[in-house]
Amino acid sequence: MPERPDWAVIVHGGARTIPEPLRERHRQGCLEAVAAAATLLAAGRSAVAAVESAVRVLEADPTFNAGRGSVPNAAGEVECDAAIMDGRDLAVGAVAAVRTLRHPISVARLLLYERPVLLVAEGAEAFARAHGAEICDPDHLRNTETQHAGCDTVGCVAIDARGNIAAGTSTGGLSGCAVGRVGDSPLPGCGLYADDAVGGVSLSGEGESLIRTTLAARLIQALEHDAPQAAIAGALGRLERVGGEAGLIVIDRHGRIGWDHTSDHFAVARASAAEPARAFIHRDEDKGSDA
Ligand code: ASP
Repeated sequence: MPERPDWAVIVHGGARTIPEPLRERHRQGCLEAVAAAATLLAAGRSAVAAVESAVRVLEADPTFNAGRGSVPNAAGEVECDAAIMDGRDLAVGAVAAVRTLRHPISVARLLLYERPVLLVAEGAEAFARAHGAEICDPDHLRNTETQHAGCDTVGCVAIDARGNIAAGTSTGGLSGCAVGRVGDSPLPGCGLYADDAVGGVSLSGEGESLIRTTLAARLIQALEHDAPQAAIAGALGRLERVGGEAGLIVIDRHGRIGWDHTSDHFAVARASAAEPARAFIHRDEDKGSDA
């Protein structure tokens, strides 16, 4: 087993079909997000801080269906979900069906050490206001620039110099979905999980399928004995039972990175203390670098 790098990080911009004219934007956006996290990790900051900063970059970029680029639901309104998990103590903070939060991931982080794990709708927005988070007009979040096809969520997993692991997700959900629908993204064990003793994972895909298979939980369980790529292959096999496309990113406790997808594309960027930042939109572009 190679020595654990001082730190490592991987981000994704959603499991989907990315039309040719948008591919460069997806790569660039993921590179900017991974650079934000890498700067913090190299300075000795925590995995939680790194994950939040990477997801904030993706939320601010209308290329991605999260924060500012969110897709409308069946009523033409935007509802966002986000979560962050701290693998040190299994703390989770999550928000769902929020309409006025500029950075849902930051409100999720504020919730990390509060008693409720998940706040939805007005409750989350009131909490955000009370804690000085950035509130915005719902129109600011609605995607008016890019066509989103299929699934699309952003996520990040990081391990810091102390070996602490964190995972995060943020999404505008599925285009045209039912009002009030909440997907896998804010649910630990479904859209994300992090445990310093095992690893961290963040998922994108059809939320209903990821929830039914508790795919993040299965992936974490497999990481107890398998290397990242083998664990991912096993999890994707489970998904076949219910169907639906997905994209998965993983870092294990040894700092090994893995990722894969069943969607046509999955924009990803990765970096570590031992490797420069690189971006991909298909797994085939990154063959051979993982355990
Ligand atoms: N998983 C997200 C959801 O179902 C969508 C996605 O990943 O694109 O809300």
